[in-house]
Amino acid sequence: MLDILRRIIQEVNRAPDLSRALDVIVTRVKQAMAVDVCSVYLVDHDAQQYVMMATDGYSPSVIGQVRLDFGQGLVGEVVRREEPLNLGNASDHPNFILSSQIGEEVYHGFLGVPIIQHRAVLGVLVVRQRERRRFAEQEETFLFTLGAQLAGAISHAEASGDMDRMLRESDESRFALKGVSGTPGAAVGRAHVVYPLANLDAIPDRPVQDVNAEIAGFHAAIAAVERDMRMMSARMVDVLPVEDIALFDALILMLRSENLIDGTIDGIRAGNWAPGALRKTISEHVSAFEKMEDPYLRERAGDVRDLGRRVIERLQSSQPVTRTYAANTILVGEEVSASQLAEVPANLLVGVVSARGSSASHVAILARALGIPAVMGFDDLPVARLEGQELVVDGYQARLFVRPSEAIRKEFKRLQREETELSNELQELVSLPAETLDGFRVSLYANTGLLTDITPSLRCGAEGVGLYRTEVPFLIRDRFPGEEEQRRTYRQVLKAFAPAPVTVRTLDVGGDKILSYFPVVEDNPFLGWRGIRISLDHPEIFLAQVRAIMRASVGLNNLRLLLPMISNVAEIDSALGLIKRAHKELRDDGEDVVFPPVGVMIEVPSTIYQVPAMSQRVDFFSIGTNDLTQYLLAVDRNNAQVAALYDSLHPAVLRAIHQVVRAAHAADRPVSVCGEMAGDPASALLLLGMGIDSLSMSAASLLRVKWAVRSFGLAQMQALLEEADVLEDGAAVRALLHRSLDEAGLGGLVRAGR
Ligand code: PEP
Ligand code: MG
Repeated sequence: MLDILRRIIQEVNRAPDLSRALDVIVTRVKQAMAVDVCSVYLVDHDAQQYVMMATDGYSPSVIGQVRLDFGQGLVGEVVRREEPLNLGNASDHPNFILSSQIGEEVYHGFLGVPIIQHRAVLGVLVVRQRERRRFAEQEETFLFTLGAQLAGAISHAEASGDMDRMLRESDESRFALKGVSGTPGAAVGRAHVVYPLANLDAIPDRPVQDVNAEIAGFHAAIAAVERDMRMMSARMVDVLPVEDIALFDALILMLRSENLIDGTIDGIRAGNWAPGALRKTISEHVSAFEKMEDPYLRERAGDVRDLGRRVIERLQSSQPVTRTYAANTILVGEEVSASQLAEVPANLLVGVVSARGSSASHVAILARALGIPAVMGFDDLPVARLEGQELVVDGYQARLFVRPSEAIRKEFKRLQREETELSNELQELVSLPAETLDGFRVSLYANTGLLTDITPSLRCGAEGVGLYRTEVPFLIRDRFPGEEEQRRTYRQVLKAFAPAPVTVRTLDVGGDKILSYFPVVEDNPFLGWRGIRISLDHPEIFLAQVRAIMRASVGLNNLRLLLPMISNVAEIDSALGLIKRAHKELRDDGEDVVFPPVGVMIEVPSTIYQVPAMSQRVDFFSIGTNDLTQYLLAVDRNNAQVAALYDSLHPAVLRAIHQVVRAAHAADRPVSVCGEMAGDPASALLLLGMGIDSLSMSAASLLRVKWAVRSFGLAQMQALLEEADVLEDGAAVRALLHRSLDEAGLGGLVRAGR
């Protein structure tokens, strides 16, 4: 049975549109269950009816004709119960309505199961038999399992069908396609579809005639691609911050890596021509990356593929390929690569749409750094058919409008204009203090780490670094960085901000941040070997890192050390013991190292209740709301399936934060927030109302938060907190905050426009 189920679902998944998917379902189910009829009813919300959309058994002429009002008939009963209904004789049921148009009277046995997606009933799958008998339990569970699995396939097919309709009927284009994630901003422009330069998988193996000439040609192609990458990087220098430019260096390193070059040359020596040998090495690399647990590293598979295609392109032609772009280009692709994005002159590019990818993709990171709205992650985006189409990208809500109606186009053009005005106005805030209307001074710091950079943080007026995620230099290498290598990296950040404070967090790997060269395989990685737990179990790694950090601060003295994933005081005592030891070793070596203030991340719920004990050991606290929310609500922060439950404005999260602030202040210890929540202007109002001393966020959010801070009084924020305190769920809190921002004329901070 399992095998049949799997085959049906595969076939449904391959169907090009909803109607064909439904046909597959009814035919295959009728066959597999040896029943007389199988039909699918779908819910039509506009008409408030259930409509028979496919059948095998009744006459095809009734498709679309048989309609039942909501709540009516046995189908209505299945929808209401959200459970299977199994009857030996359908007409005995009080809700039975005879549809004489289908000749239903000869069928007695009835089995209906709901098709449910994200808690909503999409439709009902029904089988009928002449025989007067209930269906066996095994039959019921088969149909039920199929119904549950079909929901996803049906909504996929529905989405691609919508797309078809959207392209056919231009005035029916009011609805938007929904992506998984976006980068803020709105754009109106025309699609320029970028496609893989060469289809790597289609390259055959071929015998090579002259091995040496083939190797020389391969080296020349590598050198040419390296030149292209350097040119792209040079073009981006004025546009992108230094650390983001480092992406191109990383790509060049990958291109020049021994594995890639030697692997291919070995292939050529074994008798394969260069393109074939390269295809093989690239696909080995790609599958190695794709198997990685860490989403950031998994995304690198796309970079490797892109590099491979570029080399192939150069192997096939010695001339660089030039592409032209029009004004208001929206770059669209199956998997837009960072280098494809970099090829478009910055003044022509207004938006990016990538069918694959997530907010961790390089293309998303670059788009964010460039301030270009982007939407990533679509199930069924017919990329090839979008070339030249007018598009609207709504990065706030991860939406894409294809051939927008006049009204949508106008609305988004207006929003786009307003956004430009808004960001120009925000620039004026750079040199102004983050001070509330009633004169309360707040400190706004930047988070740095993954390709985020010093320059934009300084440019937007950050008063220091509130969270430097040191795992980043570890994640982008293929081995542990040495102590001196680490010192140099940390020094750059500390020096750039001196004398302003830089809070350096010790290594926080584990969970979803896995080092390729230090694999940790666990059933529950977020509850496993993470952060300080790894550091304490490997004092050699921790000591080297702490020594490197302290040496980096010599003469600057703006360092603060932060410990991640603390769950009890013993961990603090052990970590402090090691930090003191490292400090003593450095002093003994004659280094003029000042012992830094040490703080603890509040992100494991147990720490909420241990602030007094921890205050006796450390100097400050920083609340990591990303993990605190995940652990308090038991919602995996990376799982799209439960994303709707992940809410930092959940009253329980707010109370926890408030409790930490009160306890820390009672012990005279400052508290900051460095999770994503700090960069959300609406949430920032509540956090400041609670008395949080500083907020640390990505540079892109800083001026927006500053605007909110300067538009409200602390007393107003406290009043908002009081109002929020009696609300029972996060949605109500969010609505309250958005209303307040709107009333203060700051609606543009939470949606497109201003
Ligand atoms: C947090 O958990 O809120 C945090 C800032 O740490 P990270 O996102 O790096 O886990
Ligand atoms: Mg964390």
